[in-house]
Amino acid sequence: MTNGKEIAKTGWNLDNSFASLPELFYSEITPNPVHSPKLVMFNSPLAASLGLNDQVLKSDDGIAILTGNRVPEGSMPLAQAYAGHQFGNFTMLGDGRALLVGEQITPQGDRVDIQLKGSGRTPYSRGGDGRAALGPMLREYIISEAMHALGIPTTRSLSVVTTGESIRRETELPGAIMTRVASSHLRVGTFEYAANWGEKEDIQALADYALQRHYPDAGPDGYHFLLQEVIKRQAALVAKWQLVGFIHGVMNTDNMTISGETIDYGPCAFMDTYDPKTVFSSIDIQGRYAYGNQPGIAGWNLARFAETLLPLLHENKEEALKLAQDTVSNFKNLYHSSWLSGMRAKLGIFNEETEDMPLIEELLDMMQKYRADYTNTFLALTFDTHEDFILFGTPEFVQWQDQWQARLSRQEENSAASHQLMRDSNPAVIPRNHRVEAALEAAEKQGDYSVINKLLTILANPYAHTAEQTEYTTPAAASTQPYQTFCGT
Ligand code: AMP
Ligand code: MG
Repeated sequence: MTNGKEIAKTGWNLDNSFASLPELFYSEITPNPVHSPKLVMFNSPLAASLGLNDQVLKSDDGIAILTGNRVPEGSMPLAQAYAGHQFGNFTMLGDGRALLVGEQITPQGDRVDIQLKGSGRTPYSRGGDGRAALGPMLREYIISEAMHALGIPTTRSLSVVTTGESIRRETELPGAIMTRVASSHLRVGTFEYAANWGEKEDIQALADYALQRHYPDAGPDGYHFLLQEVIKRQAALVAKWQLVGFIHGVMNTDNMTISGETIDYGPCAFMDTYDPKTVFSSIDIQGRYAYGNQPGIAGWNLARFAETLLPLLHENKEEALKLAQDTVSNFKNLYHSSWLSGMRAKLGIFNEETEDMPLIEELLDMMQKYRADYTNTFLALTFDTHEDFILFGTPEFVQWQDQWQARLSRQEENSAASHQLMRDSNPAVIPRNHRVEAALEAAEKQGDYSVINKLLTILANPYAHTAEQTEYTTPAAASTQPYQTFCGT
């Protein structure tokens, strides 16, 4: 148990409520120590919000905790069991290279998971080595923090520590461990695991736990409420992804949270040129997780979630199925209205007209046709800077712009208010792929973390629209090689 002294000194205030679930859901593990840990990234503002003592955590003792070399007081290290549909195929998975240190109770009274990623083998490692390479851990750090700054629910990154050990991939790579902070690691895949390998009581225990942890306001129809709320949060989340051009890349059901946070930053990347077919992940040959498919896939995943809850929704199987189907079918509308209101804001529109949808679609069609940069098109519309784009010189666009201006005049708010709304809805900067790569290369090859830290500073206020951000708005130069990302490396 955590004692008062330990909290006062280090700030660790850990609980292990996940371990109160049936043992089916986890395995207790002993961490695998690493050779010579070195702290390379540390998120001070996040540490402060968790109530953790910055200086203590950066000391050798603190770093030992961030690598699993030392277990903090109150921790009961465990690996979570889960399953998942990966590219449509159902498999048993689980934390193969992650360790749940515990749940930190923050000074605000929030409960968040502290997880080490890349911390060594677990009973769920299958053939893997349980380790992670520095590059992908830094990549997750950058993109998850950028997502947070964009106002998108996400897991956060507290630290990256190099292990002093190399790991074997296609070549030898430096090993690293990332500390991930999440409002929980409950996944759609955790429910699939319960439904497939557990009894009804296990699904119920998990659903009760999820309700208590994330949806404490549920009434007597708690399990239906759980389904409705997860659908709502995921609809809002995926709409936010679409609005900033974020492509998750591996929307397997094990990578979809019950909390509604974005999780798992393996092969994700931001779209430059607008094209719904955009795919970056090297293994996504069919384009299952392409930008334009993300809402549909989210709906599919939520149907898998609903299936796991069937025994809890109604005693009568047919009634349960009907309730599940009706609820899942709401996803489309919830997603669409979230996306549409976000798109209206991106165009400075406050009120609603039925013609808004065709107006938006026309713009997107033109962007696709003239291969316009997604983020920068909206920026140019915001700041009325139209010079550099082929799109803006076309008669189609001129006509569209007249319609858009006419639309803006049909609302009470003046143009200054519209402009402000657009500034607040269109980010100046996203983590551009070439910028992320340059930051990773400097860190990995030269041990130079100044590039990554500068990038993080620029990405920390995407709606600030400062002069300093301007050079970070440029997309990569055209290349014959499409940008590719990789999973679980
Ligand atoms: P991900 O691609 O990160 O969603 O991982 C999918 C599954 O593979 C999860 O069960 C991971 O824990 C597992 N996994 C990924 N990389 C490794 C590794 N190096 N060693 C063991 N398990 C891994
Ligand atoms: Mg995953």
